[in-house]
Amino acid sequence: MDEKLSGEEERLIESAAAEHRQLEEEMELCRRMLTLIELAQDRRRAAITAGRIGEDICGYDQRLDTISSRDAFAAFATSPEGENIFATSKLPGPIGEEDEIVKGMCEKKRCKAHAGWAKMLALGLRHQIRELGEQAVEVEEQGRIVRDAAGERWRRKKAEKNWVEVL
Ligand code: ZN
Repeated sequence: MDEKLSGEEERLIESAAAEHRQLEEEMELCRRMLTLIELAQDRRRAAITAGRIGEDICGYDQRLDTISSRDAFAAFATSPEGENIFATSKLPGPIGEEDEIVKGMCEKKRCKAHAGWAKMLALGLRHQIRELGEQAVEVEEQGRIVRDAAGERWRRKKAEKNWVEVL
């Protein structure tokens, strides 16, 4: 509790802080999506190096499908498989699949459905992170304005009181 704040101001500041936390969480999810894209690129590269696929193979990882839905991705990221991926920064084959190197990977040549997948997905996410970041700054500013106004009012009241006491 801050004695300078009214109940209403306290509520406003609290809800701004809650919204800020929410936005931070959304940004963290987006960053993890970017990580998954990078790991899928690494995995494709490793399969090429291992001689399992050629340079012209798509290599899109089926788990990237979750990126199109925030809730689906959040569920994936908090599943045992997802937690392991983000804790180790390694993308093994999908759980339960035997062929570690290419399972879950699109093996089409010059695939049209996923053309430029890494760039396309990352571009959308970077845009989203930027927007979320701007919103977070705005929300923070709202909280600060309320706090500053309350502080100013408190100082004024104190000055008035001192003046009355002097009289
Ligand atoms: Zn493909």
